[in-house]
Amino acid sequence: MRIEGIRAYRVQQPFADGTYRMSKGRVADGFDSLIVEITTDSGLTGWGEMAPLGNFYAPAFASGARAGVAEIAPSLLGLDPCSLGIVADGYGRLQIKVGGNVHDDIERVTAVAGAVPKGTVIFCDANAGWSPFQARQFVDATRDLDYVFEQPCPTIAECLSVRHVLDKPMVLDESVTSLENLLEIHHANAADGLTLKISRIGGISRTRQLRDLAVDLGFMVTVEDTGGAEIDTAAMAHLSLSTPEEHRLHTRGVSPVGHRENSIERTACVRQPDGHSRRNRPWYRCRS
Ligand SMILES: [Mg+2]
Repeated sequence: MRIEGIRAYRVQQPFADGTYRMSKGRVADGFDSLIVEITTDSGLTGWGEMAPLGNFYAPAFASGARAGVAEIAPSLLGLDPCSLGIVADGYGRLQIKVGGNVHDDIERVTAVAGAVPKGTVIFCDANAGWSPFQARQFVDATRDLDYVFEQPCPTIAECLSVRHVLDKPMVLDESVTSLENLLEIHHANAADGLTLKISRIGGISRTRQLRDLAVDLGFMVTVEDTGGAEIDTAAMAHLSLSTPEEHRLHTRGVSPVGHRENSIERTACVRQPDGHSRRNRPWYRCRS
């Protein structure tokens, strides 16, 4: 089987509820997604998706992905694609975005923890928005609450310094970009769990490699991505469900953010798409 054609579609996916906000004033209004179609001489077609969260979250960004396709696609024509390497009703877990004003976040997390049913798992994710000083203030004020603390500070060393005063599990997310990072976290005992984002790590095969090593090293693992629609969600679902259950934390579809124009519903279930949008034309086309 040989690759016969490559098409790339730029798809704007505005967020259903408007602007998405993170710590440090980072905002995005939607995913600037790139969907790639690879056709083969056997009649098989493969689809992939890259949907970075704005231009602030990861080294990969939308125009970079488009440039990458144009650069790489001509070299892939004629190759064997197989040699290139491959939920439940209700929410039992909540992620609360923190990393802003410490006192406001303490108040908000305390209110949420007091309002949710017993047994609800809470993740407080600062997205690397705090200094160790701020993160320790938060930790100290929330000792009576039950939650998992995710990526309080930008660096592994800073997060480790917070972990020393933390009596709860810690998960690192933004710090995991490579095998080297993962090993550094392991050697420093800097986390109990890891969040692996497919786009940030470099695709499905690289994520699977890190996921397998993380499992071997005893980490709890979440496989997710910066965003996307059905194709990207399918990749997340496959990598998540192929993670041994005893090491699987959860995954995150795009449902917490949502799009206006696709068939992913705002539930924990990932549903089959209704069909293809006919109005989208290839942004990039390459044929042998
Ligand atoms: Mg996170």
